[in-house]
Amino acid sequence: MSRFTGRVAIVTGAASGIGKEIALRLAAEGGIPVIADLNLDAAGKTAAEIKARYGDKGGGDAFAVAMNVTDEAEVEKGVADTIAKYGKIDILVSNAGIQIVKPLVDFPFADWKKLLAIHLDGAFLTTKACLKHMYKAKYGRVIYMGSVHSKEASKLKAPYVTAKHGLIGLSKVLAKEGAEFNVSSNVVCPGFVRTPLVDKQIPEQAAELKISEADVIKNVMLKDTIDGQFTTTDDVADAVLFYAAAKNTVHSGQSAVVSHGWFMQ
Ligand code: NAD
Repeated sequence: MSRFTGRVAIVTGAASGIGKEIALRLAAEGGIPVIADLNLDAAGKTAAEIKARYGDKGGGDAFAVAMNVTDEAEVEKGVADTIAKYGKIDILVSNAGIQIVKPLVDFPFADWKKLLAIHLDGAFLTTKACLKHMYKAKYGRVIYMGSVHSKEASKLKAPYVTAKHGLIGLSKVLAKEGAEFNVSSNVVCPGFVRTPLVDKQIPEQAAELKISEADVIKNVMLKDTIDGQFTTTDDVADAVLFYAAAKNTVHSGQSAVVSHGWFMQ
């Protein structure tokens, strides 16, 4: 019996990057990841990859659902379809996110609202939809994908830093409200991880800051790490799975920074 045998886990934004790694790792330990993503094609591919990798090892189930996390009806439908198929939701990893970099003085209001909606409305809507099932079952583990930017600021990232700080607040409220139902809540806060989200930012930041892409990596992204290393998707998944496997609510309300020392608490 593995840590997550039979556990049903909705992971948003799991068609790519960090979310995909979390889904793969949950499946590797017997869990059933629900790949909830805007991009249904890519979500289907991730689910197929999981079935192909782990299907012959006794587990290996995965379910792809189309979900724009900012759309209440789509979130409700994805959760209802999961309940119809598996009868429960044990774990929610609210991970879907985007990045938009621009100086505050030029930040388009539409981009500000779009980013806050994906990170904050998405976290709220998916939490709310899953909670009623978790409360009924008296079991739930909720993990939000924060960032070092939940604790620290960088230039050019006003809505991202604002949203990631906000997730800490949401998680603390859920920790208080969820405790009597054995529902825990945590935030995992990675440093820079080489995913499509970061690869897109490197040329954008180079253009905004008028420096080379190599300088963006060395002197912006990894400047304050202790060893000049990127965090990996595997490192982030380790922390998420730690909280997802919690035996009780002892760690609830806490956040963990996974960043090669970029930010130390
Ligand atoms: P990614 O671009 O590789 O993956 C993001 C996924 O989210 C994609 O599959 C995309 O289709 C999906 N998505 C985007 N908008 C969505 C929406 N409205 N509804 C549903 N799905 C949507 O990015 P990533 O680097 O894996 O980022 C995942 C999370 O990790 C984000 O919350 C991000 O802020 C956070 N994070 C990333 C880093 C990093 O360095 N990569 C660092 C700290 C935190």
